[in-house]
Amino acid sequence: MDLILPQLFANEPLTLAKSSATVAYLAAAVLFVLSLAGLSKQTTARGGNILGIIGMLLAIAATIFGMMVGGYGMMVVAIAAAVIVGAVLAARVPMTGMPELVAMLHSFVGLAAVLVGISSHLDPFQDVPASELLIHDIEIFIGVFIGAITFTGSIIAFLKLRGTIGGKPLTLPGRHAVNLIMAAACIGLGVWFCRESHTDGGQAMLALLLMTAIASLIGIHLVMAIGGADMPVVVSMLNSYSGWAASAAGFLLKNHLLIATGALVGSSGAILSYIMCAAMNRSFISVILGGFGGGGGGPSATVEGTVTEFSVDDTVDMLKEANSIVIVPGYGMAVAQAQHSLAEVVKILSAKEKQVRFAIHPVAGRLPGHMNVLLAEANVPYDIVLEMDEINDDMPDTDAILVIGANDIVNPAALEDPNSPIAGMPVIEVWSATNCVVMKRGLATGYAGVDNPLFYKDNTQMLFGDAKQNVDAILRSLQQDE
Ligand code: NDP
Repeated sequence: MDLILPQLFANEPLTLAKSSATVAYLAAAVLFVLSLAGLSKQTTARGGNILGIIGMLLAIAATIFGMMVGGYGMMVVAIAAAVIVGAVLAARVPMTGMPELVAMLHSFVGLAAVLVGISSHLDPFQDVPASELLIHDIEIFIGVFIGAITFTGSIIAFLKLRGTIGGKPLTLPGRHAVNLIMAAACIGLGVWFCRESHTDGGQAMLALLLMTAIASLIGIHLVMAIGGADMPVVVSMLNSYSGWAASAAGFLLKNHLLIATGALVGSSGAILSYIMCAAMNRSFISVILGGFGGGGGGPSATVEGTVTEFSVDDTVDMLKEANSIVIVPGYGMAVAQAQHSLAEVVKILSAKEKQVRFAIHPVAGRLPGHMNVLLAEANVPYDIVLEMDEINDDMPDTDAILVIGANDIVNPAALEDPNSPIAGMPVIEVWSATNCVVMKRGLATGYAGVDNPLFYKDNTQMLFGDAKQNVDAILRSLQQDE
């Protein structure tokens, strides 16, 4: 008894620290779930974000102080460096550059999963019971596999979103067979790895590294095969992959919160990918397999005709005469930062008893919800901001449409030309309204690189120039009239 009691007390701080960490992890997981629930609606998104931040702070604190980790000095240096890099990047990145940043962050998660997996295989001090060795090996292998695909896939997505690599899909002959062979090779290497893992460390490491190289190629090939307009789905899909990669790392590190958080990210990313696919009329399976969105294979229809140009005064006259007005914002509005002046224009027109509404396409801009965020920032009331599905049927009864810096999301070729690279993608049918003014700087194509027949339609007028300068001019003109 004399011997046992001191031992129990000696272990008490450790037990206490562990159970406090477990409670903190549980609280953090609940906060993450509540955060996701909050983020699902514009009105509660801010609160959802705050809950997520508190949950993350709690999780970091519990990991640092509760789980008997060592090397605090090194940890402080690493955290300080990460905080500085993160803060500088977040402050510098414009809203239009967010998808690139998100893709880059996904690649970090993938790389972390690869490194955790390899180091876990190398760690001689792990006390894994003999009955669980096989499961442990499979966890390592799957974690490294998903991590490597996420890492290289996200880097390609980053380069594509940045414009360093063109948006055209790389469609190698027999690409699905190539993917299949690479996946089969990985399975074979997995069997070799598990067999040699505890007998011949060198052979097992070779199998692991070979699989990492092949999985990295799969990641590159999957994302290279996807066309420009389908990139939003790729971003949310990589988001999902990064979640599963984190979850796999959580199993290896025996960290329950990392498992739960990874699963939350993985499943919410998968749900978002599914919603995006449905919104863009794409098959979920084709996205997962990569290489879709290339159109029907034949040459796209030639786009030609005469463009009718409008001045600011013409546009103001059109708005004054209209009773129902729909505004369709796109990436160009984000670039020009025209949302604040636009909100003022909307206030003036609404005060004149006109019905003014916004039509939001699910992939407008460069990240999911991009337009909603900008309009919320400019205090546009939520009830006049409608999703494409809610408003598309009202287009024929609309007097005037203002398309501000949008292009692909209002391209009729998606519905009219089966060979167009964006064929089948639902678009906002602005051409069915009585009048449509398109505000952009020239006749350049959008992100998908597809010519737009809308510009040449009889009821379409082009107001050329920077969206902010033109919206400001419209605002000044409307204010002078008051
Ligand atoms: P687009 O990229 O199709 O078109 C934007 C247009 O804005 C350009 O054609 C450009 O024409 C114009 N523009 C640029 N700067 C200005 C400016 N300062 N003032 C006025 N106009 C300007 O944007 P959409 O929003 O219509 O479509 C989004 C595209 O991005 C889709 O193809 C989508 O698939 C893709 N995408 C979306 C993501 C998402 O998650 N939402 C992520 C990744 C890609 P001009 O140069 O002539 O002015």
